[in-house]
Amino acid sequence: MNPAEAPPPDEPGPLVWPPVSGWAGAAAPGPNAWAALPPETPGWTAPPQPAPPPRRPATGLRRVLAPVFALGAFLAKFGVVLLKLKALIVLGSMLVSVAAYALFYGWSFAIGLVLLIFVHEMGHVVVLRRQGIPASAPVFLPFLGAFVKMRGTPRDAWQEAVSGLAGPVAGSIGAAGVWWYADATGSQFLRALAFVGFLINLFNLLPVLPLDGGRAAAALHPAIWAVGLAGLIVLEVYHPSPVIPLILVLGGLELWRRWKSRGTEASRRYYQITRAQRWAIGSGYIALAGALVLGMHATYLARPLH
Ligand SMILES: [Zn+2]
Repeated sequence: MNPAEAPPPDEPGPLVWPPVSGWAGAAAPGPNAWAALPPETPGWTAPPQPAPPPRRPATGLRRVLAPVFALGAFLAKFGVVLLKLKALIVLGSMLVSVAAYALFYGWSFAIGLVLLIFVHEMGHVVVLRRQGIPASAPVFLPFLGAFVKMRGTPRDAWQEAVSGLAGPVAGSIGAAGVWWYADATGSQFLRALAFVGFLINLFNLLPVLPLDGGRAAAALHPAIWAVGLAGLIVLEVYHPSPVIPLILVLGGLELWRRWKSRGTEASRRYYQITRAQRWAIGSGYIALAGALVLGMHATYLARPLH
C-alpha cells in the first residue's frame, strides 16, 4: 500500500470503505489491474474535491472504526499479496531451475526434468497433508532439486517412512508415464527424460537422511543410515557431485540430533512401530528400488542424445 492510498487521518471511514472494489479488482484481468485500482475507488481521488462539505463532526464510533476499516482493508490486500507471493515462489523457483538445467540440457529437457521433480514433490505434499502434517508447496533449488517444508513432525517412524516414500513412488509413476509415451511415439528424447526421471528417484532412495530413502530407513534400522552414509561417501569419491557434500552435512546434523535423543521416551515411542509396518516399508522400499533399476535399464540409450 503506498502512502497515497492511506486514508487521511482525520477523514472518517466511509470515504475508503468498503474496500470491495479493491477485492474485485484484484481478480480482474490485466496485469496492472491491481496497482491501478486504488485511485479508482469511488469518491477517493475524484478530482478536485468540491469544497469540503461542512464536516459532520465525526461520531465517536466512526472515529474509532475508521482506522479499523483501514487496517482491515490493508490486511485483506496483504493477504492477497501473500497468496500471490507463495505461487510466485513456487513458479519462480521452478523457472529459475528450468533456466539452470537448460544451460546444460536444453530447454525442452529442462522443462521435462523440473516437471518430473514437481510430480515427485507433490507425492510428498499429498501424503503429508493426508497425514495431517501441513506441508508447503515445493520450492525448487537449481541443480539441487526441490524441497517441501513440513510444518509439523510425523507422529512416528511409520508416518515418516510413508511420506518419505510417497515422493519416489509418485516420481516413478511420472517417469514411467514418460517412458510409456516415449514408446508410443518413438521419441528418443522422452526416453532419455524417463531414464533421468528413474535415476533421480533412485538417487533419492539412498538410505541417507535427509533423502527419502533415509526416511524409509527410519522405520527399519538405524544401522542402515550408517551404511547409506558410507555408500554416499564412496559415491562422492567415484562420481563427485556438489550435491553429495551438502547431503552429508545435512544428514550428519540430522543423525546427530536423533542420536542425542535416542534414549528418551519420546524417541522410543517414535521408532516403536509394528512388525507388519516394518515389513511393509522394507518390502516397499526394495520393490521400488528394483523397479527403478529395471526402468533405468529399459530406458538406457547406448548413444548420447543430440
Ligand atoms: Zn523426495
